[in-house]
Amino acid sequence: MIDLRRLKQTLDTEKLRHATVGIFGLGGGTDFAVDLARNGVGNFRLTDLDVVGAENIARQGFQQADVGTPKVKATAKKIKAVNAEASVLYFHMDCTKLTDEEADALFGDCDVLIAATDNLEAQVWINRLALRDGIPAVWVGLYPSGAAGEIIFWKPGLDCYHCLCEHRIRKHEAAAEERRSLDPPSDGVTRFDVGIVDAIAGHIVLGLLTEGSDNRFGRLIERLGDRNFLQIKLDPDWQLNGRDVIRRGLGIAEECDAYISWCTIACRNGATLMPCRDCVELRGHRFEETNCGEFSVFHRTDYGVDRDLVGGKELSAAADETTPQEEEAESVSKRAADDPQVEQELGF
Ligand SMILES: [Zn+2]
Repeated sequence: MIDLRRLKQTLDTEKLRHATVGIFGLGGGTDFAVDLARNGVGNFRLTDLDVVGAENIARQGFQQADVGTPKVKATAKKIKAVNAEASVLYFHMDCTKLTDEEADALFGDCDVLIAATDNLEAQVWINRLALRDGIPAVWVGLYPSGAAGEIIFWKPGLDCYHCLCEHRIRKHEAAAEERRSLDPPSDGVTRFDVGIVDAIAGHIVLGLLTEGSDNRFGRLIERLGDRNFLQIKLDPDWQLNGRDVIRRGLGIAEECDAYISWCTIACRNGATLMPCRDCVELRGHRFEETNCGEFSVFHRTDYGVDRDLVGGKELSAAADETTPQEEEAESVSKRAADDPQVEQELGF
């Protein structure tokens, strides 16, 4: 059992021991998963399709001996080496191939979902899972060549990943129709680049898992509020559309000599967005058009008064009896466990 004595003043280790995280993408995500175990997270669901390749050693936390092993399995072993009592369930598969029912059965009881994948289709799939089941989620990614990083987090009440990235998603979908992929290549992203962004994302995951606890991690999510889009500058010369958005976001004067890099901004969605199709379908969000003379203005009519507040985990946690939906989830879970394509292991 991992000895967490020296973390107790900062982290609600009891909450973390009972917490379950679903991690999608165990390339860059492998060290992330292991560090969550070091911080006392007790239960893991790991999903990735890849096996460890020789080229992964330089950038991801695997060893030469792991080459040829599924990344989920190699990561599960590392987690167990840190905390033998951790429960690790892993799936060597493409999560996007699961039906909604199967996904809900396998991940519906997670406390936080972590998207550590560059694949936009998977990121959108994880967003739908999060919205459907009311599970907080975190997306972690690096921009090309590791020049900057991005973290988006969601919990009920906030703008979702799809709402925030609507433009990006449309571009990807248009490219996909032409059989092109716009997923950023991860070449040039070093272990240190990933490490900086992971460290910040790790704070947010621990914050979501222990929200409300009387320590700095327990207060973090409330302090962030609706600023759920974070950018981290890694290359001092990184700019977005010709602008140093980090310097501007922080209000740092041009003559400030101390400013160079490794800074983070946390932004809220300043625009009035149309609800994404997933929020319309899964959260019941609607926009209403109001004619103001020459202009038509769209505004949300029911934001916040939707399944965010009554559905998902909170509702099922509050229910004493098993609902038919939960029974169905259990049966789907059993079917998925029997499926030979779903490799999984409960401890070992
Ligand atoms: Zn949305």
